[in-house]
Amino acid sequence: MTCYDLHTHSTASDGSLSPTDLVSRAVEQGVTVLALTDHDGTEGIFEAQQAAKGADLTLIAGVEISVTWGGTTIHIVGLNVDVKHPVLQNGLTTMRNYRVERAEKIASRLEKSGISGALEGAKKYASEVMLGRVHFAKFLVEAKHAKDINDVFKRFLVRNKPGYVPGQWATLSDAVGWITAAGGQAVIAHPARYKITATKLRRLIADFKDAGGIGFEVVSGRQHPEEVKHMARLAEQFELLASCGSDFHTPDNTWVELGKLSALPNSCTPIWTAF
Ligand code: AMP
Ligand code: MN
Ligand code: MN
Ligand code: MN
Repeated sequence: MTCYDLHTHSTASDGSLSPTDLVSRAVEQGVTVLALTDHDGTEGIFEAQQAAKGADLTLIAGVEISVTWGGTTIHIVGLNVDVKHPVLQNGLTTMRNYRVERAEKIASRLEKSGISGALEGAKKYASEVMLGRVHFAKFLVEAKHAKDINDVFKRFLVRNKPGYVPGQWATLSDAVGWITAAGGQAVIAHPARYKITATKLRRLIADFKDAGGIGFEVVSGRQHPEEVKHMARLAEQFELLASCGSDFHTPDNTWVELGKLSALPNSCTPIWTAF
């Protein structure tokens, strides 16, 4: 039986498994089609593809691009992208540079709250290519400023808390444009997770479709059945193809496992019809 998981992370962004270990775990969990979708970069894809060879698993080259839209951070997943495409890679390079700039700001804001050495501390947990809030979170736990990662995201790095830097990410049309230029399908990631009104979510979908987006992540890890139904209705109304992905980051989080996703409702047209 085919088992799709189209949204996952590795050490090439803020996941805790290497691409090779991620592929092994996916195989163990019965996943047959896996997309590696690291934040703002595709550095893990080659290793994942090598690991998938010989394993009974199809690896889809993906990415999850951070977007600022209407003052909110939105994530756009790209599936089946040509990782060598210059339009995509130029875009991702600007993202990576921005992450370095943002990390310096995060560190200096933490410094003002009396927490020093955060940039060096975060870098220890990050790959060379991508620096994110999770890496700062690991440092803050290590330095005993918080008890765990969850605690960090309540007390630091978020609005009105020490270390908060409002993101200035790609525009929605840029992100969708880079993905489609690279031959991929653009998908709105975890649409139920944004803290925006229903009206604004509809506006987001309309803008996304105008930009050339075609997919909607109807099923995401740790989602309430009612939410799935609601997202399926939106996908249907807006004629978007439905995707499913766990957003797996680490085995430490026992709430989210690779491939353990509820089925797409029957009313949905799966995104893989476009692969
Ligand atoms: P960044 O793109 O660097 O701003 O970091 C965003 C990432 O932080 C997300 O992809 C998650 O992996 C992680 N994250 C955000 N909020 C939380 C939370 N409440 N608990 C754990 N991880 C979180
Ligand atoms: Mn993440
Ligand atoms: Mn995301
Ligand atoms: Mn993700």
